[in-house]
Amino acid sequence: MTDSLPITIEGLTKQYGDLYALDSVDLSIKSGEFLTLLGPSGSGKTTLLMALAGFTRPDCGRINFGTEDVTLKPPHLRDVGMVFQSYALFPHMSVADNIGYPLKLRKVGRADLEQRVKTALDTVQLAGYGARKITQLSGGQKQRIALARAIVFNPRIVLMDEPLSALDKKLRDHMQIELRHMHDRLGMTTVYVTHDQREALTMSDRIAVINKGQVMQLGTPREIYDTPANRFVADFIGESTFLPIGRQGQDLFLADQKIMARATENTTGPTVLVVRPEHLVPLTGQPNDDTNIFATTVRDIVYQGDAILFCLELSDGTKVMMRKGCNSRNDLGSIRVGDSLKVGLHRDDAVVVADDDSPPQQAEATL
Ligand code: ADP
Ligand code: MG
Repeated sequence: MTDSLPITIEGLTKQYGDLYALDSVDLSIKSGEFLTLLGPSGSGKTTLLMALAGFTRPDCGRINFGTEDVTLKPPHLRDVGMVFQSYALFPHMSVADNIGYPLKLRKVGRADLEQRVKTALDTVQLAGYGARKITQLSGGQKQRIALARAIVFNPRIVLMDEPLSALDKKLRDHMQIELRHMHDRLGMTTVYVTHDQREALTMSDRIAVINKGQVMQLGTPREIYDTPANRFVADFIGESTFLPIGRQGQDLFLADQKIMARATENTTGPTVLVVRPEHLVPLTGQPNDDTNIFATTVRDIVYQGDAILFCLELSDGTKVMMRKGCNSRNDLGSIRVGDSLKVGLHRDDAVVVADDDSPPQQAEATL
């Protein structure tokens, strides 16, 4: 295990003309943590990572690695490993020379260098590939070499900017698990950038959801998914239908139906009920008292292999989605388009959040 370091970011701001790429970002990353910056394209993720690496100088604010203020420290003195989407390998050098490059810069002796390159190749499961040319490698292998080069000098912090986005889905899924295992073995503090919510949920100890240069929410994957801070976060992570909620004192109403919901702190301003497709259930028999009941009409049914997606219409014409996993024992097959269907939403699954301004669509549709 390498030593790892906590990172403290305070009031970090970077402006390009009128645009705030970073807008007073505060973020504390724990020693040894795997933290993901998740947000849509253009939200400021790369800018934040580049400020951590030292390639972008912030206009104001501070970055500490441990107790050391590194805000103005040049990149080559920061001792961080970096992995980019584009690999950034040297095409004319062998695999071993690519991986050994950071050690050469650090004037590591030859025997030691060769040993450490070998260990790094073992770590990324490419033992024996040292003599190959970069051009003889597949995309996945190139990314592993880039990773080996980032960790070969035992950095205490590793920064990765969308490292898997050039790989096809199957390899990406595999590499997500592998990267996470490697992090757990080596223990360095890792800041990982992605726009892919599923990747963030799969890999991270905690996720910082970024929008317009600001941290919208910081939390574990569970906290972010189950208790989104606002509509932007709920919309960006997972799929949801948002239903406008009215209030009378403590009571919540959807049209004139009283709604039972999990308590939320944010009670001022317009609010919406977040309905996740997997939280709706078709009702058979008598539901318990903690379940909201909606009368709907089935408008569309989409077979997805592992699940069936139902598009349901509430009495006021609003559409909500319900997804149910398929198995041989449930009788979803008997539901037809045009049927009336009562569905339930348990109060613990009913989350009411602030209706912040219209969120951008996700880059990758998951439906
Ligand atoms: P992300 O990595 O989340 O896609 P970036 O950090 O690359 O976002 O960019 C954040 C915002 O800052 C974007 O609007 C982008 O166009 C702008 N930006 C980034 N770098 C520069 C630059 N060097 N000059 C001008 N604008 C920039
Ligand atoms: Mg980027």
